[in-house]
Amino acid sequence: MSIINQNQSVTHGEKILNLSFALNPNEMTAFEDLKHTFGIHEGNLSVLSEDAKDFALHKGIVMRTLDLPKDARVPVPFCIVPSCFPQKLFDYAVELQQHINYLLYTIAHSKEFLQECLASTIETDEFTANIFKIYEAVEKRNNQQPSLGLIRSDYLMNHDSEDVGIKQIENNTIAASFGGLSPSVRDLHEHILEKLGVKDFDCKMPFNDSASDLAKGVVMAWDYYENKSAAVLFVVEEVTTNIGDQRAIEYAISELESQIEVLRCTFAELRTHLKVLDNKLYVKEKEVAVVYYRVGYMPEHYELQDWETRLEIERSHAIKCPSVGLHLAGTKKVQLCLAQPGMLERFLPCEVADKLRRVFASQYSLDMDEAGDQAVELGMANPSQFVLKPEREGGGNNKYGEDLRSFLQEIGSTQQRQAYILMERVIPPVVSNCIIQSNKAPQPCSITCELGIYGVILGSGDKIYYNYNAGHVLRSKATSSNEGGIVAGFGALDSPYLT
Ligand code: ADP
Ligand code: MG
Repeated sequence: MSIINQNQSVTHGEKILNLSFALNPNEMTAFEDLKHTFGIHEGNLSVLSEDAKDFALHKGIVMRTLDLPKDARVPVPFCIVPSCFPQKLFDYAVELQQHINYLLYTIAHSKEFLQECLASTIETDEFTANIFKIYEAVEKRNNQQPSLGLIRSDYLMNHDSEDVGIKQIENNTIAASFGGLSPSVRDLHEHILEKLGVKDFDCKMPFNDSASDLAKGVVMAWDYYENKSAAVLFVVEEVTTNIGDQRAIEYAISELESQIEVLRCTFAELRTHLKVLDNKLYVKEKEVAVVYYRVGYMPEHYELQDWETRLEIERSHAIKCPSVGLHLAGTKKVQLCLAQPGMLERFLPCEVADKLRRVFASQYSLDMDEAGDQAVELGMANPSQFVLKPEREGGGNNKYGEDLRSFLQEIGSTQQRQAYILMERVIPPVVSNCIIQSNKAPQPCSITCELGIYGVILGSGDKIYYNYNAGHVLRSKATSSNEGGIVAGFGALDSPYLT
């Protein structure tokens, strides 16, 4: 293939593909790979891309963007074909999930452990401190109350690893996203591979029913509440950009149990429409069985009075997804504590602990002690080998490279550093794909993939009623970007093509 310059048009039969983007050598290689593996070339890319976008809209793989009118929906950015992912690593992560569900659920009920892990974070980070205050306020009463976890554990392949070959990036216990859309992305990829005439792809694309599996968790919690006229409450943002994902879960709930009414309310609406009577939670006069948070994982989601709302919900008998305990169990500081020698064995049998520990990346606390001082020095001396992570969710918060170094220089000797952890930077292998985005030319590029495995757990106190795997998602980003916020436009939905 010849080098194609910006705005150059290439004619292939009747189709004219206007490659209004420059292909740098990296992108050229990606395009060559796509041609070789899947038969994508200059002549069919444009048609495939239009088809794939319509298929995405047809399947509800959609989001809102803030620059378009409220009712407009565009496809969520996605990769045009599935990305190769080693079956062995995929299976390893899948096999861990029920143990991770159990581990996080148990930690949610272990006040001492949470206190021990989070003591220094709480001193510095007001957001974590606010959640912990609610935990303490309700801990005795709620420890025996049922709670629901819709969890996602994320992994990057570890290019240099001689060990398992994947490293865990984090556990998401609140508002874990994209389980609603992931099965449809598999359908989209199936459709594209059929169009391309690829043979025998079905066995390479693992079955994925995450939308329904996650919805089943909500339905089971609703069932457990034992009031057939009670509703499920989704707590949502003022403007939900990731709307297709949330609706997919909502509609899967209705498909499983048509009796369930799903309410969608913001914290602002709950200020006037929420009441608790005899420990029962009511929203707009309707009793609520399950509260599913799709918001509430960052400080900006709360006005001062919304903390009171979260406390009221937590105090009520409604089943929380997640409870504040489970929210705290998903913090980065808990992840770091679990990586310390002997910690996993407190909760898991030795052989399971060994298996899980093998996917842990090295992590360093930045507490105000000698080990913390050493970690600051380590990070500053080798910034490219680490990621500096605050106790935040939602992407875009981490620091890398020179930023990391100068930031540690600034806060490295202050208490502020306790709100961060230092983590070994995992360097995943590069895969070729082509990212499709609304109103942009298809972009062949090298990407890296992050695998998310979903799990569901429902229990009360030390009794666990359900604990199961709930499918997966692959999220990919161009190698030119450090983080892959999909709705923010840096990443793309993908699906694994097992090799
Ligand atoms: P958040 O809760 O904000 O999503 P994450 O821990 O998932 O925080 O980090 C966001 C993104 O940053 C990840 O999806 C991944 O792309 C990147 N990242 C996080 N930790 C590492 C790491 N140790 N090595 C390489 N990349 C990382
Ligand atoms: Mg996260």
